Amino acid sequence: MKKIIIAIDGYSSSGKSTMARDLARRIGYVYVDSGAMYRAVTLYALRNGMTSAGNVDKEVLVRALPDISVSFMAAGEDGVQHTLLNGEDVEKEIRSMEVSGMVSPVAVIPEVRHHLVALQRKFGEERGIVMDGRDIGTTVFPDAEMKVFVDATPEVRAERRVKELLEKGEEVDYDSVLKNIRERDYIDTHREESPLTKASDAVVLDNDNMTIPQQMDWLLDLYRERVK
Ligand code: C5P
Repeated sequence: MKKIIIAIDGYSSSGKSTMARDLARRIGYVYVDSGAMYRAVTLYALRNGMTSAGNVDKEVLVRALPDISVSFMAAGEDGVQHTLLNGEDVEKEIRSMEVSGMVSPVAVIPEVRHHLVALQRKFGEERGIVMDGRDIGTTVFPDAEMKVFVDATPEVRAERRVKELLEKGEEVDYDSVLKNIRERDYIDTHREESPLTKASDAVVLDNDNMTIPQQMDWLLDLYRERVK
């Protein structure tokens, strides 16, 4: 069967990553979480004193980009992917509220985007890949055979994110998560370089009222149609 590229874009905490990862597992494709790559660069900036009062020192970070490598490895019993920053497993740290609070300002920096988009395209060279993010269908793989744009209200997304963080043992409250989601939506949709927007040929998946199995059936139907 022909191998294709599947791009899944959408707002923060819309459930993209879970559905992209599950879909990849079901159809035997490689999964790449592009948001994790922006988070890893943000963690690097935080650790190396390149941020202060919610701002990032762009020049210093851009100069350090050649020293930042992001990769993935399968880890844990369920084979869930872990993100590596210069070889170190940072999967837990990149999901913290501290990183979530700084990631969108880092992701607006054009040089950071170019650096990561080049890496993302390398991952897709052999096709057979599911990648989720904000600009996958528009910028990273405009020729992807299957493009999905996931939509859900900020409130539903905040509830899901709180649940996920609590399960991971992080203390969070709904209001600050909702605030962070709204802020990231704003920055992601208003930045100059590849803003979050639906590709003209993407299919919208509004998952406010869908269960995870329903979403999977929907994705598999679309996938089968696209590889026919
Ligand atoms: O997907 P996730 O919420 O983990 O992404 C974290 C942040 O990384 C997003 O809020 C966005 O600012 C940035 N991002 C991006 N382009 C992508 C993926 C993520 O700008 N392709």
